[in-house]
Amino acid sequence: MSLLQETKLILRRYGIKPNRRLGQHFLVSEGVLEREVEVAELSPGQRVLEIGAGIGNLTKYLLSAGCRVVAVERDPLMGRVLRERFPGAELEVVIGDAVRVELPEYEKVVANLPFGISSPITFRLLRHGFEKAVLIYQREFAQRLAANPGTEEYSRVSVACQYYAEPRLVMRIPRGAFYPPPEVDAALVELIPRRERLKVEEEFFMRFLAAVFPYKRKTLRKALSFAARRMFDRELHLDIEEGLLKRRVFQLSPEELAVVSEVLREWSTEASE
Ligand code: SAH
Repeated sequence: MSLLQETKLILRRYGIKPNRRLGQHFLVSEGVLEREVEVAELSPGQRVLEIGAGIGNLTKYLLSAGCRVVAVERDPLMGRVLRERFPGAELEVVIGDAVRVELPEYEKVVANLPFGISSPITFRLLRHGFEKAVLIYQREFAQRLAANPGTEEYSRVSVACQYYAEPRLVMRIPRGAFYPPPEVDAALVELIPRRERLKVEEEFFMRFLAAVFPYKRKTLRKALSFAARRMFDRELHLDIEEGLLKRRVFQLSPEELAVVSEVLREWSTEASE
């Protein structure tokens, strides 16, 4: 029996009508699942966190790799399917909202995320830490996470994500790999924490990114003067290289943005003393 047939059978048996609002699109491509588990480089006994396990199509592969799985799932009915589909397995099911529940201990995260929570769950995981995360996202979001400076996709989430981790776009996944298919395509992303974080005060940097990226096509000079008004409600005088000020925000690397953020932070603390 194919995974698609098995999925349809389970849905029928439990009377489940996939809920779009909860992003209930189940992965039915064995090729994609094999690749996802391969990229995760799992070893027996490893603790894996799965977000939004659904009826367990990915969970099955994680358990076969010998992992101890903690699945966080919002829908209690899915929780029942998971317990009944894998009786006696090394599986703990936590029913709740993955953005809010207390997270268990884990080494890796492997998940086909519900697209509605991509951003909050990603940053929650990045702050929390992990050895490696292998995640499926809506393709556009995946491209933004992994984008390089100077490209169309490079945005606030690219820099914020790359502050914590090195993202890699592993493969594109067509919508037909899911049942029922979503309205957008997807992509598989690997996140590996950076060995060394950028030398910048984290909280200020995140505020700084939120303040300059609305002006990402403007020169840094312009964006900073707008940002300073937003952040501090006053005019700005900064000691920043002319060459940098002339470039557009989206052309600056995370490292360059970190330098600017620190200059701005020092100016703001001096000016307020
Ligand atoms: N991983 C499974 C299911 C993916 S569908 C597979 O690949 O087949 C996404 C799942 O996330 C659904 O089961 C949905 O109920 C669940 N979900 C949606 N929002 C959630 C949230 N905030 N926290 C945890 N799970 C959530």
